[in-house]
Amino acid sequence: MNSPKADECDVLIVGAGPTGLTLALLLARRGVKVIVAERAPEPYSLPRAAHIDHQIVRVFQEIGIADEIVATCRHSARYDFLTADGQVLLRLDGADKIAAGGWRSANMIHQPSIERALRRAVAAAPNIELRESWRLTHLNEDADATFDTPDGPRSIAAHFLIGADGARSTVRDLIEVGIDDLGFEEDWLIVDTIVRDASRLPEINLQICDPARPTTSVLMGEGRHRWEFMLKPGETAGELLDDGMIERLLDPWDVRGAVEIERKAVYRFSARIAETWQRGRIFLAGDAAHQMPPFAGQGLCSGVRDAANLAWKLAAVVHGDAGTHILETYQPEREPNVRAIIDLAMMMGRIVCITDPAAAAARDAQMLAARAANASAAGAAAFPDITTGLIALGTAGAGAYFRQPVAGAHRLDDLLGMGPWIVTREPAQPIGGVKLVSLGEAGPFTQDLAQWLDMHDAEAALIRADRYVFGSGSPRELAERYLSVLSRDAAVLMRS
Ligand SMILES: Cc1cc2nc3c(=O)[nH]c(=O)nc-3n(C[C@H](O)[C@H](O)[C@H](O)COP(=O)(O)OP(=O)(O)OC[C@H]3O[C@@H](n4cnc5c(N)ncnc54)[C@H](O)[C@@H]3O)c2cc1C
Repeated sequence: MNSPKADECDVLIVGAGPTGLTLALLLARRGVKVIVAERAPEPYSLPRAAHIDHQIVRVFQEIGIADEIVATCRHSARYDFLTADGQVLLRLDGADKIAAGGWRSANMIHQPSIERALRRAVAAAPNIELRESWRLTHLNEDADATFDTPDGPRSIAAHFLIGADGARSTVRDLIEVGIDDLGFEEDWLIVDTIVRDASRLPEINLQICDPARPTTSVLMGEGRHRWEFMLKPGETAGELLDDGMIERLLDPWDVRGAVEIERKAVYRFSARIAETWQRGRIFLAGDAAHQMPPFAGQGLCSGVRDAANLAWKLAAVVHGDAGTHILETYQPEREPNVRAIIDLAMMMGRIVCITDPAAAAARDAQMLAARAANASAAGAAAFPDITTGLIALGTAGAGAYFRQPVAGAHRLDDLLGMGPWIVTREPAQPIGGVKLVSLGEAGPFTQDLAQWLDMHDAEAALIRADRYVFGSGSPRELAERYLSVLSRDAAVLMRS
């Protein structure tokens, strides 16, 4: 066998799904040389995710594709969980309102359109190389990897390797990382349709908690609509995939002629999390690190959040501005957030996936009573802040997600550019390379930023590149503390 020819890069990303492509773009913006190796010869063309939240659109804003993506989205004002006879068990309102990320809370998407936008951006980025039909086969702990390619085996030597290679991750297997099963497993039929007459379709997202057939109906981007039907005990995928069966399942929706079926598939919805997300210079991100049932619409979103967390840390290490210890904060910062979201998705799934009529009646009685007493969950879900990792714990606001104010067509991040930034009351010079923005320089956002500082009784706040608050205090203290935590001499993960 010919010995494989070696290429080199700073960061090698295995998998060109949304996680891998987003990470590549965030790294490239920071001057990191990236290779993305993807086993498929071309992009995956069928829809999976139907929803992304405001925080994810904000990440896409940083890589310059938010407007393009939002132009393909549709919006549902609410997300209702209904009984079989149409009573509201749970209502999540405000889905179409501007949320903390500075974009609408919930954005209904067509995943292939998002992946196309990401790929266009990748093609335009000078320091990313995307290699298709490259399938990872071997890996060593120095993050050197070997691929099966159309030209035979080839290898790539990288400082860091990211396994963004999906639920059946080869990277995860090769580094022998186990996966915890969190105990959710249900098979659902997915029916994706192209909409011919939108006026005959529901305008909001629905979970029909009917024990006779738990059903989901959701809007999607790019003129599409999705239904999902749970397989009941004893049913097979083959039975549900039968065209006659799908027609019968769609009958109650009265959409014959209003939609055209684009594809049908049975998916197993599960909840699993990798035991560790880092082995030395190798990291797992996105579905390779965690999977969840889609009831909260958060699988892709969580992968993009992983990318946002990893990108600035990897870039700082590659450029010699930080020690590798900062990479150890990736999993401690991200895992609690992902676990909380998985819990939410499983909670929603457990409400919906009940096929026993007596259990469904008990659920309905309990949830209707709670709703009547105004005690049920409502409003957009808030995800947990960072509580340990690269933050100045003990200072006001440390670890919180920093809101992006909007003024007309303007958004804060566009004004400030790539982070980190110190937002401060009075003008001041940059400290150790950290940019300072005074309230006077914040244009239409002055009042919002002043409000944040007032609320936290702070002179200044340092906002990390991924829009989480490092901490608050005086500008000098903050910059010094931040730089010392990053410093190559700082040997341990920062906890206080
Ligand atoms: C029915 C359904 C509904 C969903 N709804 C939502 C939703 O509403 N909102 C949401 O946020 N998420 C949703 N998701 C989840 C979302 O689709 C995934 O979380 C997301 O696609 C994960 O992205 P990823 O980049 O981590 O992995 P993937 O998209 O799986 O990409 C991994 C890539 O790695 C490549 N690869 C694999 N092995 C190798 C190898 N050995 N060598 C090279 N390349 C390799 C694959 O070909 C693939 O291109 C849904 C999923 C399903 C199935």
